[in-house]
Amino acid sequence: MSQRIVVIGAGIIGAAIASHLAEAGHDVTVIDRTGPAAEASGRSFGWINASFFADAAHFRLRAAGIDAWRRAGMQDVTWSGSLWFEEDGAGFDVMLTQLQDFNYPVEPIDRDRFCELEPHVATLPKRALRLPSEAAAEGGAVTQGYLARAQASGARALFGVDVLGIDTAHGAVTHVVTSAGALPADQVVVAAGTGTPGIVAPLGVNLSMLRRPGLLITTRAVPPVLSHILIAPGQELRQLPDGRFLAPTSPNHQADDASELEASAQDLAETALARVANLLPDQALSLESITMAFRPVPEDGLPVVGPAGPDGLYIATMHSGMTLAAIIGELVAQELTNGGTADLLAPYRPGRFSA
Ligand SMILES: Cc1cc2nc3c(=O)[nH]c(=O)nc-3n(C[C@H](O)[C@H](O)[C@H](O)COP(=O)(O)OP(=O)(O)OC[C@H]3O[C@@H](n4cnc5c(N)ncnc54)[C@H](O)[C@@H]3O)c2cc1C
Repeated sequence: MSQRIVVIGAGIIGAAIASHLAEAGHDVTVIDRTGPAAEASGRSFGWINASFFADAAHFRLRAAGIDAWRRAGMQDVTWSGSLWFEEDGAGFDVMLTQLQDFNYPVEPIDRDRFCELEPHVATLPKRALRLPSEAAAEGGAVTQGYLARAQASGARALFGVDVLGIDTAHGAVTHVVTSAGALPADQVVVAAGTGTPGIVAPLGVNLSMLRRPGLLITTRAVPPVLSHILIAPGQELRQLPDGRFLAPTSPNHQADDASELEASAQDLAETALARVANLLPDQALSLESITMAFRPVPEDGLPVVGPAGPDGLYIATMHSGMTLAAIIGELVAQELTNGGTADLLAPYRPGRFSA
């Protein structure tokens, strides 16, 4: 049965959910205080992978995320694969064994093969893992792509509109109160990234998030020289389709647990640029821009997806949202449409914080 569903947040998570809900026939409104991909989604490294994971369940969700991106058939996702050589020695062997045990596509390669695949990289590892199923998404563009699909299926978008609260009656949501008035709703999906805890707290839902600033540098464009996402010791890197390079300033950025930037943004950017230049010394690289966003990282580091508080309230917020958006969009729309529960989401319910 068609329901009036308000999705709060037009980042990649809200956009993917809105697209699937609208395609399932619901009456969908997406609200954002700024506009599409205005926060983390527009300032993300965009690496879609399952090689970074917390445990077996998290790996399964992330691997399903990759499959769902394939099904999404979205432009602005580049299926380049990754080359991982962040660690050597025991760390390398553990990573290889774990990924093989999970039947993840992984190919150990030697220095010669690495050189064939990436002839412009100067610091050649003795060995690396080729992860051919991984990809990169351009956060702003894929968010816009999902919103366009949602709108083509009848969804409305309200941008520049702040959500001020959610009204309830008899234990169920009734309206979303915004700076542009109140909207009636049968279901409210809160996909507001770092804004999520503040929206659900007045409804008695406890969700705390870690403070995790994330800085990226973008260089000016050069001709195409790098075909994979590189996960090098101390530096991750990819070349965008337009020739610019994109790189986090923190090593192993998905696991970065610093709550403050350790130096000025300019200093961190210059240090990262120097590391990138060491990898690609033949390129005349110069810094084009620095971006910063707070990553939406729930307090245990894992996604938060599911109903919480009053009837009709549903939360979807997480880090690695680029990896997970396509599968989250599918599963949330199925749960809200069919009333079932997705096994893949079982470890990530919001109720784990309310004990
Ligand atoms: C530097 C960096 C690198 C990253 N690298 C990767 C990576 O390589 N791979 C990966 O998978 N993930 C990565 N991530 C994480 C990923 O980008 C995020 O998990 C994802 O973008 C979160 O999407 P979202 O839609 O939940 O949140 P957001 O994109 O933050 O969107 C939330 C939206 O809600 C809106 N909003 C908030 N409060 C309100 C309100 N009260 N009223 C109305 N609107 C509101 C905001 O304006 C915003 O547009 C990275 C993040 C950063 C910052």
